[in-house]
Amino acid sequence: MKKIAFYGKGGIGKSTTASNVSAALSLLGKKVCQIGCDPKNDSTRLLLGHICKETVLDKVRTTDMDAIRGEDIVHTGFNGITCVEAGGPEPGVGCAGRGIIVALQLLDKLKAVPPVDLTLYDVLGDVVCGGFAMPIREGYAEEIYIISSGELMSLYAANNIAKGIKRFASRGSVRLAGIIGNSRNTPGEKELLKEFARKLNTRLVAFVPRDKVVNLAENRRQTVLQYAPDSEQAAIYSRLAETIWNNTELSIPTPMEFEELEKMAAVYGTEA
Ligand code: ADP
Ligand code: MG
Repeated sequence: MKKIAFYGKGGIGKSTTASNVSAALSLLGKKVCQIGCDPKNDSTRLLLGHICKETVLDKVRTTDMDAIRGEDIVHTGFNGITCVEAGGPEPGVGCAGRGIIVALQLLDKLKAVPPVDLTLYDVLGDVVCGGFAMPIREGYAEEIYIISSGELMSLYAANNIAKGIKRFASRGSVRLAGIIGNSRNTPGEKELLKEFARKLNTRLVAFVPRDKVVNLAENRRQTVLQYAPDSEQAAIYSRLAETIWNNTELSIPTPMEFEELEKMAAVYGTEA
């Protein structure tokens, strides 16, 4: 089984890209499980057709631990995709990363996820605290994709995630599998992302354009694969899904110094 994760800054497009990739993989005949590890709880919305009504942490809050059954925390979405949302604390209370730790341990204990070909962890990467690092620290995910645009703060988050991966790679099987560009139409964005990937000892596995079809699909609570299966955007997500499925180019990242990153982004950020 392939165990992958998408990490990146909040709002960069992790859940959208993850859901479209999961949908595309399922249409290729693969059995997929997507696990949302972000207190926003909306990772699997496009696959389920609604916001997940019961996250793992919700269930833990309302039910005796021993009374929780696997089927209470595992849901089925588009084309049979298994969907899980770790959940988060109530606003203003507790630790955002805790949901992930509780959820992953409970899924293991209950053997709640049916056999799949690929598990995709969709993880917030603004903060790489213990909770958010859990999927890479404990070997849940082995092949890590970092989603970034050409915006400096998104590259900054990506570089910090690479630092986390490097730390855990030395004592485990976690590796960086590539950068996924999700465009914000910044100047020289694709070239910048290619160079950024090279500096990190990896490659840009896809450059996903910003396209309103994504928002139209989202408004219908669907992936682009469902809403506009014949669109170029759907083809881009399908190609990314195939690349991920076949990818064997895994590396230990070489993160950059912040000053170096800043200088690199500034070169591309200058209008010609
Ligand atoms: P994250 O999971 O990283 O927090 P989301 O996947 O929720 O981010 O995406 C944030 C917003 O950006 C969503 O409204 C989504 O529709 C939009 N978005 C993501 N990728 C694209 C894209 N390639 N083109 C247009 N809109 C996009
Ligand atoms: Mg998300």
